[in-house]
Amino acid sequence: MEFIDLKRQYRRIEKEIGEAIRRVLESSRFILGEEVEAFEEEIARFVGVPYAISCSSGTDALLLALMAVGVHSGDEVIVPAFTFFATAEVVALLGAKPVFVDILPDTYNIDPEKVEEAITSRTKAIIAVSLYGQCADFDELLDIADRKGLWLIEDAAQSLGAKYKGRNSCSIAHVSATSFFPAKPLGCYGDGGCVFTADESIAFKIKALRNHGQVERYRHKFIGINGRLDALQAAVLREKLKIFPEEIELRQVVAGRYDVLLKEKGIEPPVIRNYNFSVYAQYTVKVPNRNAVSRYLQREGIPTAVHYPIPIPYQEAFSHFGYEWGSFPEAERASKEVLSLPFHPYINMEEQIKVVEALAEAVAFLG
Ligand SMILES: *Cc1c(COP(=O)(O)O)cnc(C)c1O
Repeated sequence: MEFIDLKRQYRRIEKEIGEAIRRVLESSRFILGEEVEAFEEEIARFVGVPYAISCSSGTDALLLALMAVGVHSGDEVIVPAFTFFATAEVVALLGAKPVFVDILPDTYNIDPEKVEEAITSRTKAIIAVSLYGQCADFDELLDIADRKGLWLIEDAAQSLGAKYKGRNSCSIAHVSATSFFPAKPLGCYGDGGCVFTADESIAFKIKALRNHGQVERYRHKFIGINGRLDALQAAVLREKLKIFPEEIELRQVVAGRYDVLLKEKGIEPPVIRNYNFSVYAQYTVKVPNRNAVSRYLQREGIPTAVHYPIPIPYQEAFSHFGYEWGSFPEAERASKEVLSLPFHPYINMEEQIKVVEALAEAVAFLG
């Protein structure tokens, strides 16, 4: 069993992917160009935003978003303590300070009340991560950002295709960033990412920044990066985007089956707010004695993953901030208890039964 079985998806669209790749090879246009532009139009339409600017990864999408809103050295940016490292890494890379805020215990998303307490005169932006495919609490966060004159950025690396009160992830915050890393809900065959916004001047800046700050050939208005999406990835993504709506529905079916199977065994399924529609980038449960449970499952041939074992403030790279254990109790608890189960649109009922039976056994023995 695979944790995320990308081969099943490939088998389904093998012919189309082959043709798309050949189309790019025949064109000999490998960087930006028509294929990338067509993909940007299609993904902007899918999300329902005026501007989609593709780029080289989800990390670069976040970096470009921060550069475009003008995050500089000395600024502070509020980030959740429990996320993938890149969310805070890009802040520090720009010389700004990531100010960590604890999460809500049930959804693992940033706690809006604690966000308000963390704001200072140096705060420039808030990055809300929509973790595991479920949107953060955007009404509260937008209210805070607008009242305090801050930029709200969605780290939507895990949530493309999700909805919050009927609104699409990537269309809610001032600027949103997603990832096309192969294992994300919409993945390419390498690295890729995209920034979304309704703000014309931010979109203009991001488009220049991803290509060395160029506004026309060899005219550099900004100091930017080489952060472009390549045409081969765009062509792959155009094919995958065609089946993505159906895959999002399949993700609901898979999650629904896990929910029922887990409840039968007395294990709590993930908490999804009734106004949220999750894409389940991860299907993550809480278990006691997590590391032993995970090892037990591994021996039974069931791969699991821990997203994430160490809260970001306690990472060695951020040791100079001097955060002490105990500062983020919810992030700490989550990092000890969370376990993500094998999940992808093509996992079948039999496999899911096998996962849940082994998990229930493990929890009964070790929990
Ligand atoms: C995957 C991920 C990123 C980084 O995306 P890459 O495409 O791997 O650079 C950033 N934030 C979160 C929450 C992620 O899950």
